[in-house]
Amino acid sequence: MKIGYLTFGRDDLSYGLALCLSKLGGHELYRVTPKTAGFVDVLLFSIFWFEHSFLLAEFLRQANIDKAQKNRPRIIIGGFNTFNPLHLLPYADAVVVGDGEGVIANVVNGDYSAANVLTDDKKTVSYGVEALESFCHDVNDIGRIELARGCKFNCKFCAVKHLKPYREMPIASIKQAIRSTKCKRIALFAPEPTTHKDNDEITKACIRANKTRLDSDVRLDRIEKRDGGSARHDSTPRVGIEGISERLRKSVNKGYTDAFIIEKVRQFMADGHKGLFMYFILDLPGEEEEDWQSFGGLVLQMNELPNAEKFILVPSPSVFMPTPGTPMGCDGINWERPYKQKWEGFFGKGQGRVWDVMMAERSRVFGPHMRLLQMMATRAGTEFKPVEEELSKKGAIAIKTRLMITDKTEIDRILGRDGLIDAYTSPRKEGPWDIVQFPTKAT
Ligand code: SF4
Repeated sequence: MKIGYLTFGRDDLSYGLALCLSKLGGHELYRVTPKTAGFVDVLLFSIFWFEHSFLLAEFLRQANIDKAQKNRPRIIIGGFNTFNPLHLLPYADAVVVGDGEGVIANVVNGDYSAANVLTDDKKTVSYGVEALESFCHDVNDIGRIELARGCKFNCKFCAVKHLKPYREMPIASIKQAIRSTKCKRIALFAPEPTTHKDNDEITKACIRANKTRLDSDVRLDRIEKRDGGSARHDSTPRVGIEGISERLRKSVNKGYTDAFIIEKVRQFMADGHKGLFMYFILDLPGEEEEDWQSFGGLVLQMNELPNAEKFILVPSPSVFMPTPGTPMGCDGINWERPYKQKWEGFFGKGQGRVWDVMMAERSRVFGPHMRLLQMMATRAGTEFKPVEEELSKKGAIAIKTRLMITDKTEIDRILGRDGLIDAYTSPRKEGPWDIVQFPTKAT
């Protein structure tokens, strides 16, 4: 069979799709474009971010392929963003929800009976959960090996925790994967790599194989475990602080106090490290002006630490997106708040800058209308397809390699007309994603 595949991420081939393709021996595999998509028997798409739902719609439009046609390739969609699969179903014969590597061989052959495969005939679907096997995905001269899926911690907003039960790749499989890659640099990824029960043994295996580790995500309270004494990391650590104040951090179950953060950063600087990325989530439920004042106090304290002038601290904001299947999945957002301007104003630009040189703040924050589209791809049901078609046709959005807003008034009109702005952004009790039986109960 001829199988065409595509992922819409930065890399040509995402880890999850590469893992699935590795199960399809005996088939001819092609990376497709809109011009070639019609010549295969089966199309596989991996949807990772919300934006990819829009890119998929545009790809199929360009390819002149629609589910309503009789003679067309069968269309299968999978990937992380399938936690609400219903908005993808009008584009596909089957949506594989959650882990797909265990079922993909049957699915491409037209067997959609697995519990985690949604079709028009099914009323519910389970979130797929597979055991981790030895696998290394070499891309851009980096060998990517998944150490664990899910997380042992319990942050309330977190999809990684609440959609995926915690599983580790066995140490023997990890060693096998390390041996299998020709890349000198390897990213051993997991939400928190240091919690793998064989973390020290993994470190030793990297050293023996003369590999440089590039994995960068780590919790602030485990940052000293990251170097494992002798493992050679070649990346700036990235820690999730999440709430901008103690109060908000506590509310999402990541209760770092300001004093704890300051002490950790002080120690990290004193140990001679050069920089640290810190992730913050703006617009967590209940955020008030006093939380921003508290954030200002925290940043000032970091600014005044010894040797701060030699250290690059990169506070990186994102805006809150309630993910279905998490305890915060039905929370609302304040989509109209202009957080990009708020963030830039907070740090000051040019003459207005109030912080010292150590801050290299990032400000890629979605604006209000991009947040509306983000929530549309998160909360929509089958209306996603006609609404997206209207947004495109009326020039409200433009879709090339990225999704762009081209007419905000038209977005307001189209989404506002049928109450969709409210449906996508207000607190609610249920949603189209309720057809998914998630493996962990959101509490
Ligand atoms: S935010 Fe990070 S530490 Fe918290 S549950 Fe998610 S992956 Fe784990």
